[in-house]
Amino acid sequence: PFFSVADIRRTFLDFFAQRGHTVVPSSPLVPGNDPTLMFTNSGMVQFKDVFLGTDKRPYVRAASVQACLRAGGKHNDLENVGYTARHHTFFEMLGNWSFGDYFKRESLKWSWELLTGVFRLPPDRLWATVYHEDDESYDIWTQEIGLPPERVVRIGDNKGGKYQSDNFWMMADTGPCGPCSEIFYDHGPEVPGGPPGSPDADGDRYIEIWNNVFMQFDMQPDGSVRPLPAPCVDTGMGLERLAAILQGVHSNYEIDLFRALIAAAARATGTRDLDSPSLRVIADHIRATAFLVADGVIPSNEGRGYVQRRIIRRAIRHGYKLGCTAPFFHKLVPDLVAQMGEAYPNLAANAQRVVEVLKAEEERFFETLAHGMEILDGALAGGQGTLPGEVAFKLHDTYGFPLDLTNDVCRERGVSVDVAGFEAAMERQKAQARAAGKFKMDRVLDYAGPSNAFVGYESLHAPAKVV
Ligand code: ATP
Ligand code: MG
Ligand code: MG
Ligand code: MG
Repeated sequence: PFFSVADIRRTFLDFFAQRGHTVVPSSPLVPGNDPTLMFTNSGMVQFKDVFLGTDKRPYVRAASVQACLRAGGKHNDLENVGYTARHHTFFEMLGNWSFGDYFKRESLKWSWELLTGVFRLPPDRLWATVYHEDDESYDIWTQEIGLPPERVVRIGDNKGGKYQSDNFWMMADTGPCGPCSEIFYDHGPEVPGGPPGSPDADGDRYIEIWNNVFMQFDMQPDGSVRPLPAPCVDTGMGLERLAAILQGVHSNYEIDLFRALIAAAARATGTRDLDSPSLRVIADHIRATAFLVADGVIPSNEGRGYVQRRIIRRAIRHGYKLGCTAPFFHKLVPDLVAQMGEAYPNLAANAQRVVEVLKAEEERFFETLAHGMEILDGALAGGQGTLPGEVAFKLHDTYGFPLDLTNDVCRERGVSVDVAGFEAAMERQKAQARAAGKFKMDRVLDYAGPSNAFVGYESLHAPAKVV
């Protein structure tokens, strides 16, 4: 059966509501309870204090559809956008939680029931992974759910060190942690890529759709684990990835919602080729940047605001590549609101402001973009394999090109960027500025947010205020 994105949200929440879960609204992209976290990057963020035991809720089961952003911060998928079929910066995560209530058995069985019974995914296309020591989950999959053992893969400590594994989740260096079990869908042999755990698992054939995290331990400072008194469940499934399967397409960018956004991007940029990767990037980035403005993040030169600026400018550069020399990006906002405004009333309510903020940033960047691109094109014309750090720095400093934008252009042309040289140039400039007393270095240093190594300032624009 065909499920629209809206159908999937409703079906998911109804399924868990019928099983005693309280439906909780999506929380803002800027976490209210955690200044160390750049953006809400999963559904559990709003429950973090519940897991830590410092917050209590009047329910022990919850479900949500959470707006997530993975750009900047520990989880960063910005560089994947336009390159994989399955990654976005902004995406929606479907999740269900148990706070000391049900555990592995119920959770895995419900995942299976929803996927195969309600959404009717063919069971023989599904695979599962478990942490290598988690026999409990392995047995539930193979003996109770009946997944053939060939399709239940034990994943070891594949990230170097005890409990360092794709299938072992930790909230932080200490505290709640535990094994996780992930469900994958096989899109078929036409797509390159190997099954989970194999050397070419990074391809797009076997796509991870749902992660069941079982918090059952409390990690000690010495790296040992103790059982938690009340184990919890935290799950997350990518809405767009599920939609792709249910709509019979391989890429997330071919689902109903993205088709509409890509059509809007094609219109705004005057592009006829709907398969252009730049349209996918623009469609992805309008979601991220519009939701960020709606949640109060405006472009700036530090921290969250700088991530916002990087995403907007990256989108604008892709529009420029398609031939735009004047603001176009903000024109996608009405189409986005038409697609997502009902599910996210805050987006709809802030639409006008989103248009204004994006347009202002576009006007600003279009002043320097063409000239910067000329310089970059000139530097790349020589055909060397590496762009000198000095050039990347000049683009950053004088033309407002964030390093990842320069990287993005270079990657398209098979050229790498001398990042060490860029950093050295940045350091030299800072030293000169210090000597000349032009900048207050204490402020500049403050601006180097947790995830941006090079966010100091752009001399073209005055250093931004701390938001
Ligand atoms: P991947 O290995 O594909 O990058 P992940 O292991 O980083 O995914 P989790 O942190 O386990 O993802 O998040 C739970 C689910 O959220 C994933 O199983 C996936 O369906 C979805 N998801 C994660 N990152 C993205 C993204 N960048 N865009 C769209 N969906 C995502
Ligand atoms: Mg990931
Ligand atoms: Mg993964
Ligand atoms: Mg995962």
